[in-house]
Amino acid sequence: MNEKLQVIIIGAGPVGLAFAAEMARYGISSRIVDKAQGPKEISKALILHVRTQEVLDAMGLTHEAQDASQPMRRVEIIGYGKHLGHGEMEGVDSPHSHPIILGQNVTERILQQHLASYGVSVEWQTEALDVAQDTEGASVTLRRVDGREETVRSQYVLGADGTHSIVRQKAGIQFQGNHYDGQAFIQSDSKIRWSLPRGVSYLWFTEKGYMMVIEMPNGIVRTFISVPDPGQDVKTTTLEEVNAALNRFGGVDAELYDPVWVALYRVNHRAAPVFRKDRIFIAGDAAHEHVPIGGQGMNTSIQDAFNLAWKLAYVIQGKARADILNSYQAERHPVAESLLNGTDQAYTTLLKAGDLGRTAMRLFGPYLLASEAVRKKMRHTLEEIDINYRQGPITADHGGSSGPHAGDRLLDSTVVKMPEQESVQLREVLRGISWTLLLFSGPAANSAQATELAEIARVASARFPQAVRSYLVLGGFPVASPRTQEVAVLLDAMNHAHDHYGATSPCLYLVRPDLYIGFRGSLADSPQLLEYLDRVLVPAGGAARSLQSIARSAAQRYFHARETP
Ligand SMILES: Cc1cc2nc3c(=O)[nH]c(=O)nc-3n(C[C@H](O)[C@H](O)[C@H](O)COP(=O)(O)OP(=O)(O)OC[C@H]3O[C@@H](n4cnc5c(N)ncnc54)[C@H](O)[C@@H]3O)c2cc1C
Repeated sequence: MNEKLQVIIIGAGPVGLAFAAEMARYGISSRIVDKAQGPKEISKALILHVRTQEVLDAMGLTHEAQDASQPMRRVEIIGYGKHLGHGEMEGVDSPHSHPIILGQNVTERILQQHLASYGVSVEWQTEALDVAQDTEGASVTLRRVDGREETVRSQYVLGADGTHSIVRQKAGIQFQGNHYDGQAFIQSDSKIRWSLPRGVSYLWFTEKGYMMVIEMPNGIVRTFISVPDPGQDVKTTTLEEVNAALNRFGGVDAELYDPVWVALYRVNHRAAPVFRKDRIFIAGDAAHEHVPIGGQGMNTSIQDAFNLAWKLAYVIQGKARADILNSYQAERHPVAESLLNGTDQAYTTLLKAGDLGRTAMRLFGPYLLASEAVRKKMRHTLEEIDINYRQGPITADHGGSSGPHAGDRLLDSTVVKMPEQESVQLREVLRGISWTLLLFSGPAANSAQATELAEIARVASARFPQAVRSYLVLGGFPVASPRTQEVAVLLDAMNHAHDHYGATSPCLYLVRPDLYIGFRGSLADSPQLLEYLDRVLVPAGGAARSLQSIARSAAQRYFHARETP
């Protein structure tokens, strides 16, 4: 490919910023432009769910968002005038065990500073007017604030330019869906005086729809109310209107004051049928838009960017097969589809709930909310940790453990890194831009076993030195050590990681750079592991023996060693 610039990103919202930072982390050259004057000053999306916090962590933003946020641990739920119980947000199996609240402007500032740490800045006041592509690359016409126009050539384009995406339009991609006629939302960020306890958030189901009061940092609350549309000519609201609706629908005696932001908006639910047209990709609001129940929009959007980034970087750098780019659509489109369907169903059911539905909610709501199974399901869905790519085209599951499947996200655990004897979290070990092969020994490893597993690791890393690193995870006490220095070792003497991964016998977990599991299998599946790697990645030149023969001989030696006393 002749184009020197590898990627141009249109739009510097959360998606464009996250994607640009990832491009820089992978060593890809990019430019990012936005037609706005500068960074946003309004809060818009304010919940960072657990999976998005994990994503930021993997990007290297380990504490910035937490430091600037307010935890969201509990949501009190009131249905048609009755307190039904609460949603417990704490307790997700993750180092980030609950959602956090911070304004989208703060999230974007953190992302922008992160991007700047790689020496990349947003080109503000630069509008994309046209996008075209050919076999060699893409051309984007930009116009600066002084009217100057420039045509930029690049290998790929990302449209992160929001719901009205010019990139989507120029690529000829549809945006299909509907408006919610007759409905609107009013919201404010302000201080509040009222008689309900602080430190928690509140959700009301009312005859008119739903309403939330969410605690933000610095004593501010977000009040968010679904209301009948006051008419298409009405473009804004006032704090007084939000205050009146809060009191009317909520049955509380509240006073909102000192507003930071007040807004009225209408929502659609729409999605693009495809997220890619050859060299042009779309992500975030450019690809899907939905009613903001559960605060999923920005979260799903950042995760789109994170899913695509490593794939594009690997393909551009010649480290992965070009067809892995199709897995972006295959993995992320179903996520968007399920989000659109779920939020649409929840919203329309609420709006249409008749007397029977309301009575049922008042009667059964308290029992449902008291059930830990229901709370857990709610938590996992909202926190987006149930999202998996089990059905994706670059997922291969062969069993071998009772833990996470291929396609699931990485589970964290404490292990001891050797030879430093340093207690670390798996996610810290895996942070980086490589694939990671974790070879679990089973709960009572011996040296012979460890040496055989090390052989598989050695073969994989030798064939894909630019992409795969390997760790032996040795379970059990006393501690075994392999008779080779060639592979890195993580000790799991108390079998915490083994228990978490259900690894009761030797098994293989291959983890992608976005910390989803690409392949799972038992040791006997090592030939399939290497076939999988060959299908997805491009091997370094000069690998002498065929993969299957290497893997089979390693597996045979392993079993021979186990069966020979
Ligand atoms: C009032 C409001 C409240 C919301 N509340 C929530 C919430 O509570 N929770 C939640 O998850 N989501 C919420 N959302 C949605 C959330 O803000 C979006 O999902 C999120 O911003 C999507 O990010 P994005 O980067 O895809 O798009 P955007 O944030 O829209 O960014 C797109 C960027 O592209 C730029 N751009 C557009 N066209 C061009 C062009 N031709 N050339 C150059 N630049 C261009 C724009 O200036 C903009 O900066 C809310 C949205 C609104 C409007």
